[in-house]
Amino acid sequence: MDLRSIIDDNRHDQQIDEHEKIQNAAKTLAEEFAHSNGICTKTEDERECILQGLATPLASEESTRISLQSIREERDGLNKHRQSLLSRVPEQEKWSVFSHESIEDKDLAYLSAATGDEFALLRGKNEDILYHGSRAHCHIEKDELLMELLNTHKIRLECHSHPDYEIIIPSQDDRDFIASFGQQSSRIVSSYTGKIITFHANRFDDLV
Ligand SMILES: [Zn+2]
Repeated sequence: MDLRSIIDDNRHDQQIDEHEKIQNAAKTLAEEFAHSNGICTKTEDERECILQGLATPLASEESTRISLQSIREERDGLNKHRQSLLSRVPEQEKWSVFSHESIEDKDLAYLSAATGDEFALLRGKNEDILYHGSRAHCHIEKDELLMELLNTHKIRLECHSHPDYEIIIPSQDDRDFIASFGQQSSRIVSSYTGKIITFHANRFDDLV
């Protein structure tokens, strides 16, 4: 191989490299364009992987906190499901029956963000009960029928909302209340952050 052909070969390799570089750059640009215009060139599986990667617990906590804030500041409205829940229990200290497991803890946080009131979710074998509390309490103990159902273990207090921010603090009333009908534990959801904690009738069980 003479010097001339070595130079030519190198030039040829360089040309291939350049060509690949240009092709890759064009591909990246096309993908960026497609992405920014809402056109995704990726397959279903690739998209799923990307979405799962994005949906880290921290990212979803942050997005819940932001959407609760925009509801509270009336920059955004409740979604259809939550609107229909609220439309059936618009008044304080009233409740309504819904189909089993149709209400989630997080729904209570959104309803509280929208109204400034506490909400509680009670659940039986075949139904969910949504209780609309007042500004700082869920006075379920005032409701004879609900107390009868709780005392006979036909329903459980699954969760109630609190306006607590970073740390959710169960009150002694919360613990005494579930203890009064023999329930060991229940949950509280923050209407600021959407975070959920489990608390116990006996405060020392929270530490386990
Ligand atoms: Zn409470």
